[in-house]
Amino acid sequence: MTAPSARPPYPEVGGHPAFDLVDTVHWRLDESRAIDTLTSFEDVATWCRQLDILGGDSAGLDRLTMDAPDAAADELEAVVALREAIYRAVFESSATAVDLIAREHVAALGRSTLHRDPDAPTWSWQVPTDLTGPRAAIALAAHDLLTSDLTSARQCGDDACGWVYLDTSPRHNRVWCTAAGCGNRNRVARHQARKRS
Ligand SMILES: [Zn+2]
Repeated sequence: MTAPSARPPYPEVGGHPAFDLVDTVHWRLDESRAIDTLTSFEDVATWCRQLDILGGDSAGLDRLTMDAPDAAADELEAVVALREAIYRAVFESSATAVDLIAREHVAALGRSTLHRDPDAPTWSWQVPTDLTGPRAAIALAAHDLLTSDLTSARQCGDDACGWVYLDTSPRHNRVWCTAAGCGNRNRVARHQARKRS
């Protein structure tokens, strides 16, 4: 009954793929507990497939990764740099982070082609199917996020969690990444603290 090679899916609480990417770091705000779940280019490819952001055929990525491990490692490093730039651009208004996203966005467009499926209502950018595809797709997502309304960008209210999301709740009062996770844990902690005092 156990699924082979089962690992928990990547979180999708961000409301935008660029924020879902930021949330691949768990416990971001506590250095002693922080866990980066993107530790290999295979992880990046798995994340892209789960979020379905490569747009086309990504079947060749695994073979390319095996054939060019150094290039794949470079792409992992570049994706992690982009991820951290997204976080710093949105939550710290970092100019160097915005610069990196701008450069990666322009480079991504230079490597992509406009494509339209016969049934699709619009044309859309098709990122390359080589190892640079994930980085290009992430750069497009980062640009899309930065040029959209960021007034609802939030970070989880937990002291350590650090997950980020767009608060699209009707009253714009979402405090936690997930009600069942950080929300519940913090409610229980507050309740116990009240009982003790
Ligand atoms: Zn949280």
